Amino acid sequence: VSSTSSELPRRLALVDVNNFYCSCEAVFNPKLRGKPLVVLSNNDGCVVSRSAEAKALGIKMAQPWHLVSKEAKAAGTLALSSNYTLYGDMSARVMKILGDLAPEQEIYSIDESFLDLTGIPYLVPHGHLIRSRVRQWTGLTVCVGVASTKTRAKLANEIAKKRAEHGGVFCIEDLAAADERSLLRGLPVNDVWGIGPRLHAQLQALGIHTTLDLKTAPAKRIREHFNVVVERIVDELNGTPCLQLESPEPRKQIVSSRSFGRAVTGEWELREAVISYVSSAAEKLRDQGSLARGLQVFVQTNVFKPDQPQYAKSLTVKLPQATDDTLTLARFAVAALRQIYREGFQYKKAGIMLFDLGPAETRQQGLFDDTPRTERRTRLNSTMDRANQRFGRGAVALAGAGIRKGWGMNRAMLSPPYTTSFEHLPEVS
Ligand SMILES: [Mg+2]
Repeated sequence: VSSTSSELPRRLALVDVNNFYCSCEAVFNPKLRGKPLVVLSNNDGCVVSRSAEAKALGIKMAQPWHLVSKEAKAAGTLALSSNYTLYGDMSARVMKILGDLAPEQEIYSIDESFLDLTGIPYLVPHGHLIRSRVRQWTGLTVCVGVASTKTRAKLANEIAKKRAEHGGVFCIEDLAAADERSLLRGLPVNDVWGIGPRLHAQLQALGIHTTLDLKTAPAKRIREHFNVVVERIVDELNGTPCLQLESPEPRKQIVSSRSFGRAVTGEWELREAVISYVSSAAEKLRDQGSLARGLQVFVQTNVFKPDQPQYAKSLTVKLPQATDDTLTLARFAVAALRQIYREGFQYKKAGIMLFDLGPAETRQQGLFDDTPRTERRTRLNSTMDRANQRFGRGAVALAGAGIRKGWGMNRAMLSPPYTTSFEHLPEVS
């Protein structure tokens, strides 16, 4: 009568690429290997990825590069602009390999994936298979943490990453109870997934310092002081699953916005930027099979330069019909920009948002629709998307988006798009 006897113990893996952006760069540029390396955020602002050697030098995540660059360079640190074309493509390759090695997969972030490995008999060897295949097929190194819940798998992954003796794969469920206790006693409570700085401080005030303290905290005490989120974390730490593998939801809005590499004053440059942003947002819209009914355009001056005249304005447009057509969206965006643009300001940022999204199957015919024209547009958009996928972003673009894009991001230290452009294929000599 009971079905539980035949149920296999639930086993989830969290697989995570080590130092993802830096590692992607080092795959294609051997000179970077073994060196302190950092990758910088948009406009070369802050450190967003560090090689092991850069971490060892004490360079911190999110540190503004201009504050540390002198010292870091003196110590031999190399810096690169972020190459999202490369990272996005490498991420897709890793995720495909992981998906092929597990019955179920959740892509959690650009370099992290949960896998459901329930029923796979030799989990640690399977973890090593995952590791060696990713390594062989992409050149990237992953760590694999296995456990009965997502929260425990995150912890197991931390151990796999930090303790070299495990060879990058660690299953926390293989530990005897006493060994698990002593392991968790050595892990500060803010190592637990979901415990941010605010919760950390609150927990410490209650005398909860280690992961073991949190795991063994009386449920009543937790309920008294915290909301259900912390309760669930405690349950998950104790092996009671509260979080399931999730499949990606289509986005409810698509935002495309960037800070300019330099101040922009003329409307024509803002127009180029807005058309560029609309083009990439419309491509994402079509990719997830949605249509947009609403569009917002915004512009702003540099809030970090309070001595300059400040201006920020946005305008929301309700589209007459839901659409995914780049040309139509660009036309409305440009008209909106014309209404909010004011002369005499130094603009630092512009952006667009597509919202009120619905599935493309619900596309409605308008009374005055020119159907053959709509169909031509659909073909044009999908041809542009295919060309840009094949030959690299921006291979085909609206002329209005600009050619030279003098307002573009500062990415002075950008590596080539090695994997998405025939022109930039790595050469072996
Ligand atoms: Mg990572």
